[in-house]
Amino acid sequence: MAGSIPASSPAFSPAFSPAFSNEPFADLRSAEVREKFGAAVSAAARSAAFEAPLIIAGERLATQGRIDSVDPSDPGRVVCRSGRAGRAEVDRAVEAAARAQGAWAATSPRYRADVVLRAAAIMREKRCELAGLEVIEAGKPWTQADADVCEAIDFCEYYAREVLLLAEGAPVLQAPGESNSYGYQSRGIVAAIAPWNFPLAIPCGMVTAGLVCGNAVMLKPAEQTPGVGLRLIEILLEAGVPSGALAFLPGVGEEAGAALVDHPQISVIAFTGSKDVGLQIIERAAVTGRGQRHVKKVIAEMGGKNAVVVDADADLDLAVPAIVDSAFAYAGQKCSAASRLIAVGDVYDAVVDRLVEATRSVRVGPASDPETVVGPVIDEIAFRRIGRYQEIAREEGEVLVQRTDIPDTGWFVGPTVAACEDPDARIATEEIFGPLIVCLRADDFGRALEIANSTPYALTGGVFSRTPAHIRQASEQMRAGNIYINRKITGALVGRQPFGGYGLSGVGSKAGGPDYLLQFCEPRVITENTARP
Ligand code: NAD
Repeated sequence: MAGSIPASSPAFSPAFSPAFSNEPFADLRSAEVREKFGAAVSAAARSAAFEAPLIIAGERLATQGRIDSVDPSDPGRVVCRSGRAGRAEVDRAVEAAARAQGAWAATSPRYRADVVLRAAAIMREKRCELAGLEVIEAGKPWTQADADVCEAIDFCEYYAREVLLLAEGAPVLQAPGESNSYGYQSRGIVAAIAPWNFPLAIPCGMVTAGLVCGNAVMLKPAEQTPGVGLRLIEILLEAGVPSGALAFLPGVGEEAGAALVDHPQISVIAFTGSKDVGLQIIERAAVTGRGQRHVKKVIAEMGGKNAVVVDADADLDLAVPAIVDSAFAYAGQKCSAASRLIAVGDVYDAVVDRLVEATRSVRVGPASDPETVVGPVIDEIAFRRIGRYQEIAREEGEVLVQRTDIPDTGWFVGPTVAACEDPDARIATEEIFGPLIVCLRADDFGRALEIANSTPYALTGGVFSRTPAHIRQASEQMRAGNIYINRKITGALVGRQPFGGYGLSGVGSKAGGPDYLLQFCEPRVITENTARP
């Protein structure tokens, strides 16, 4: 098997500086950049639906079943026709991975880092093309699609550097006559099960983390975005990941996803998605299958019901645009999105009035229009679910604004602001995952934090305040994995805001942070008696 991997580093060994820095976003104000980006979006919109077959051991496999992804701004347009993996294909991919994994794990960390850095370089070359596809397949407005591609590049660059640090091991005590070393080895085969809302960055992060640590990886992309998932796998294979060590298994969650979770040879399940599916996976993965020789590790990044607290002395010129962006960018379909506004005392009326006014002017339209801020929601299921929550908002409180001047083709939902007195109401506690924010009033800052902390989720949270003691109190007491003070609560950057929640928002270390890779390896200690007898 070792023969399937070249002995030296890949031909293209990217320039490498030890310091990580984030990929700069495209300057979409520049006419030249806009033109290039626009051409990529138009090309993605015009091109005929492309096939995304399974890829197992480098072989492209058609399946009988098929899943079509469509443009959420124009659902009559099929973007990609993907294969539909079942248990048999999962078995086959895992067998190939089991054969290839040892040789991949035996390569040096530097070799694997080079492969992933090369993938980053390819993504940079194809940056507009990848973002253009996201605009059409995921309904992401331009700036959001661009940011997703940048984040994918960041994950490659960051984990490539992190694995080199990990390769140095960790310091342990030494004693006379004894040598101790602490190092890390790969775990085996990783199943990466991804959502659609960051269709390149999230799968890229989970897959490259698994790969740099020497694991083989099986990617199950979301049903809605197999086309972007395919492009990621093609790039990683082109960059030099051995074909057996990486499989592409598009399919239905309950079929391909469940088969991966149940498979006794899968060691790590890296899941990002909803709370309900995440909890189900954690339960199923706890069962030790026949012949299984390890306990499965589950990393589950799940949903949120994120609150922004606006203090009595908050700067509303700063707060309102940040809340609008946090609540409505990408139609509120970010796990980090603001879905509760909790305002303290008299500031409630002022901030809510201004939020309602700002919501009336936020630009809603097809994702392909460069001016669009709020594009469509991902599919009909989401469209109906959010519509039901708009009704629930009327029953549980009052709808202050619900935009109706929105396109009538495509899965468009008008940005909505609701008010509610009961912090335990469904609209104030359940993840809606759409452009709907609920406003709640609190008598004082302490009560505002209590309300913010009253759901089982703990993903992101924000505070606008000019009072240092309140800022300190929120930093200490707010129940959230990522807390933002006097800024928007979305847009975490790799290495700067490592991302992830706790409570029922997730279990595992933060993506894009210094502990993340540890989850994909096993630590081992070697002790040698060095005292000569
Ligand atoms: P989802 O849970 O419906 O699906 C996620 C993935 O799981 C998909 O690939 C799906 O096919 C698969 N899946 C579904 N059922 C499965 C099963 N029984 N076994 C195995 N796999 C299964 O989520 P989604 O709609 O794709 O994404 C939106 C959700 O993801 C939101 O709740 C959002 O908050 C969350 N999310 C969280 C983070 C985070 O970092 N915490 C990031 C992005 C999205």
